[in-house]
Amino acid sequence: MINFKKLANEYKTPLYIYDLDYMTKQYEELKEAFKGRKSIMAYAVKSNSNLSVVKHFSNLGSGADCVSIGEVRRAFLAGIPAYKIIFSGVGKSDYEIREAIEKDILYINVESEAELSRVELIAKELNKISRISIRVNPNIDPQTHPYISTGLHDNKFGVEIDIAKRMYIKANNSENLDPVGIHFHIGSQLTELKPIYESAEIVSDLVRSLETIKIELKFFDIGGGLGVKYDEEVTINPYDYAQAILGTLKGLDLTIICEPGRFLTANAGYFVTKVLYEKQNAAKRFVVVDGAMNDLLRPSLYSAYHKIQAVTDSTSDKTNADIVGPVCESGDFFAKDYPLPALKHNDLLVVHSVGAYGFGMGSNYNTRGRSAEVAVKDGESRLIRKRETFDDLVALELEFL
Ligand SMILES: *Cc1c(COP(=O)(O)O)cnc(C)c1O
Repeated sequence: MINFKKLANEYKTPLYIYDLDYMTKQYEELKEAFKGRKSIMAYAVKSNSNLSVVKHFSNLGSGADCVSIGEVRRAFLAGIPAYKIIFSGVGKSDYEIREAIEKDILYINVESEAELSRVELIAKELNKISRISIRVNPNIDPQTHPYISTGLHDNKFGVEIDIAKRMYIKANNSENLDPVGIHFHIGSQLTELKPIYESAEIVSDLVRSLETIKIELKFFDIGGGLGVKYDEEVTINPYDYAQAILGTLKGLDLTIICEPGRFLTANAGYFVTKVLYEKQNAAKRFVVVDGAMNDLLRPSLYSAYHKIQAVTDSTSDKTNADIVGPVCESGDFFAKDYPLPALKHNDLLVVHSVGAYGFGMGSNYNTRGRSAEVAVKDGESRLIRKRETFDDLVALELEFL
């Protein structure tokens, strides 16, 4: 068990803590589920991009799914080999495409016809062949929060089946493109297997239809999206997930690429914040803490639920309170009407399940430095990112006069 009090004393608050052993366990479980096939786990760096975390997955043999050239650079810095790095995303700039081709990564996930032309042109200028995969939008409702749904025709991601087919033919005829993969990623925090299975079916049918015109792909990239338990959700078992997908690939000799983010990191992370004040208004009890939406945006952005644990010697009955931060926005809260005992100055609240899309979505809003990050492994803790200081925050600003 992680000793939150000790770590909060040692590293101060607000503080992110990551349990690397938990990440290992999740990684091994997912990798194991696909063991009947060749597979590469390409960790979705955006879920938690701290270099020590990426390095941890690198040491386990993971690849990386990156959504900016900055993330590609992180993957290289963490020692992930080029042949396990994928570059996805709906709006890649020319310099990003150029660098990805020069670095000879596994492939670029292309998300539009215009982007395919751009990649071809840049590869031609560099006198290279760019390996590509095309992100197909299977138009399946993933039954998740609309902000994290990506596989419907009104989402900005991917291309429809017939456009994808046209793009494969173009890529196959190009001297500077090599179509090696196919990709889909229908959303995040998925807790239903059916939409995933149906998408895999649609996409594998396209692979078969491409084979009939002599376009043979090597990689079947199933994206990420596996949901986790934040509260009482019933989630997908990794073994069932793998079986459902593999079942759609009968007769196809493809390497599976899986891009897990949240599944590996969410429940490995804790956010520790200190109680500043209790405050009772006419209609409501508030617990004001030293962490805020600039540290952890998910409750404000998605109304996300996070379990919150009080570290206190208070034994009073629990009553409902809103847990709010110091930022000047009514949307700055971690929970509403959450049952908590009476708390005093310096008691701790631990927000659970924040290892994915936590620190990375942070900002400096209200001129607040971002929290420190600490990793715990084999019972030992280590600082993996320093707390930002005021000097860090103003370092890039220039005087107008
Ligand atoms: C965000 C993202 C992932 C990871 O999603 P999770 O829900 O965290 O598993 C994987 N692939 C792509 C293309 C993504 O954009």
